[in-house]
Amino acid sequence: MNHSTTRVFLTILFLAVSITLPAQKIKKSDYQQAVDNAYENYKSLKEGKNADYIKELANVDPDIYGIALVTTDGKMYTAGDLDSRVSMQSISKVFTLAQVIEEQGPRAIFDKIGVDATGMRFNSIIAIEMNQGMEINPLVNPGAIATTSLIAGVDSAAKWQNILQTHNDFAGTELEVNVPVYISEANDNLRNQAIAHLLKAYNRMYFDPVQATDLYTKQCALNVNANELAIMAATLANGGKNPITGKTVVSPQTTTYTLSVMSTAGLYDDSGQWLYAVGLPAKSGVGGGIIAVSPGNFGVAVISPPLNEVGNSVKAQKAIYDIVRDLGLHPYRIDPK
Ligand code: GLU
Repeated sequence: MNHSTTRVFLTILFLAVSITLPAQKIKKSDYQQAVDNAYENYKSLKEGKNADYIKELANVDPDIYGIALVTTDGKMYTAGDLDSRVSMQSISKVFTLAQVIEEQGPRAIFDKIGVDATGMRFNSIIAIEMNQGMEINPLVNPGAIATTSLIAGVDSAAKWQNILQTHNDFAGTELEVNVPVYISEANDNLRNQAIAHLLKAYNRMYFDPVQATDLYTKQCALNVNANELAIMAATLANGGKNPITGKTVVSPQTTTYTLSVMSTAGLYDDSGQWLYAVGLPAKSGVGGGIIAVSPGNFGVAVISPPLNEVGNSVKAQKAIYDIVRDLGLHPYRIDPK
């Protein structure tokens, strides 16, 4: 490295450090300030574009922008739009996964699905083919549809009740399906159906592939606002016990494994970058939501529909990054003794 290269390198490093570790750390109790700052910092940002491969998602108001943070002792800090609901999309994969781990134990996911990141796009067929249906992470489409196929229930209706009840318990309220989004995707999800059938060919689909894809599509269409999503995330942060309703939804052991998978594959192809910058288990959805979990501390959710090129909400990523940075809660930030 010559002298000028060294200088450039140090400048980049310095900037990175000064962005990540603010000189004046906000006290952990200043949650409202962190949420307000993140809201103000990005409320006028106009980057990204709504998903449109599910046609109905292109019609969602791109200016929806809401932040909610719920602590494990049930305090709620919010900013922006808390009324508008968007479909959960991929965020639902987390809660169906948690329920399957709860029902069958962590070994079942390890053996029947796999927990390594595929390194491929979220709806990749090559990823299935390369591993003959094995090692398909539960938070990308093939693994998620296979996970949905594992959910307990004698038939499709019973399985749906199970999925819905799980999501309701995590949210502490009764969620509803966004019917136009569900119909829009159900009419157009040939690729997901192909994924389910290919998995079936490899004996890695555990229910009828057409019905499993339909259940998966419906769970993705569950409608949530920022508050509801944050409570779902906070339930994970609190070891599976909803901090608002007090109900134990899943066990601490289930929560541990669910959060681990979120760390490997929560933000599509940018999961590594996310872990590097923010460090928290998280999950995004093409509806525009992102949840992140600070274990033992809080769950945070941001909704803003415009996405970047890999499918993550632009504002939600930035807002959560700022909140975690300002609270000094990157889990790998260690103050030496
Ligand atoms: N229902 C969407 C799909 O299967 C979910 C995608 C996502 O949010 O990543 O394409």
